[in-house]
Amino acid sequence: MKRLQDKVALITGAAGGIGRESAILFANEGAKVVLVDVNDEAGEVAALDIRNSGGNAYYIHADISKAQDCQSMIDFAEKQLSKLNILFNNAGIMHSKDDNAETTEESVWDLTMDINVKGVFLGCKFGIPALKRAGGGSIINTASFVGKIGAATPQIAYTTSKGAVLAMTRELAVVHARENIRVNALCPGPLRTDLLMKFLDTEEKKQRRLVHIPMGRFGEAKEMAQAALFLASDESSYVTGTEFLVDGGITAAYVTPE
Ligand code: NAD
Repeated sequence: MKRLQDKVALITGAAGGIGRESAILFANEGAKVVLVDVNDEAGEVAALDIRNSGGNAYYIHADISKAQDCQSMIDFAEKQLSKLNILFNNAGIMHSKDDNAETTEESVWDLTMDINVKGVFLGCKFGIPALKRAGGGSIINTASFVGKIGAATPQIAYTTSKGAVLAMTRELAVVHARENIRVNALCPGPLRTDLLMKFLDTEEKKQRRLVHIPMGRFGEAKEMAQAALFLASDESSYVTGTEFLVDGGITAAYVTPE
């Protein structure tokens, strides 16, 4: 029996990085997957790749900062695949002009909050009724290790947004626990995906981040997908409200080993 046999999963930010790897893994484990993104070209390719390897996957465009788009993506999952069991609110941005409080422009702050925080709220606003109709389910919200500790490279809007995702996740977990809906946050460490590599755009910035990671390397999107799979599956049936850190030890470190 595959680990997500007969489940329907919707994953936002599935055109690349963690979302794409999770869509591949979830499909391999028997789930029917709806891939959501604003990058239509890469999203269509990701879904096609899954179908070509025998999986069941659909791509739909949705900007998660827009209520109408979020309603449409959930409607699509229910109409196309008849139900929704797993909602992976994973899409997020790290703006290249996100910096410290003095220098970060208000527009950068607002955009980051709209996608990283409101996007998760809207996914839940429209997704929870669908999960209830399916008799319950699992929600995974991608936060970050920076929701737990301050980042060495200033990114005030991003860090704040991920702290909000952790607070939102806890409350969702408590409120919906008796409805058979589990809600957990995935807290990746620094990853070798586009999102971070574009932000740490010099070797010096990369080294500054690497020095804090006990494992001495960036994480891989595939490693996050494995953690998301556990949270999505019934294997985590008693796990809710957690902050699942998959971070190479970065939040455990005080002094960095050589
Ligand atoms: P990524 O940039 O590779 O993927 C993010 C995807 O989200 C992209 O395909 C992008 O097009 C999509 N997206 C952006 N805005 C969107 C919107 N408004 N609506 C729908 N889709 C949108 O990044 P990733 O590293 O895979 O990041 C996934 C999640 O993991 C994000 O929430 C990110 O904050 C979080 N995270 C990443 C790291 C890291 O180091 N990369 C660390 C901790 C947390």
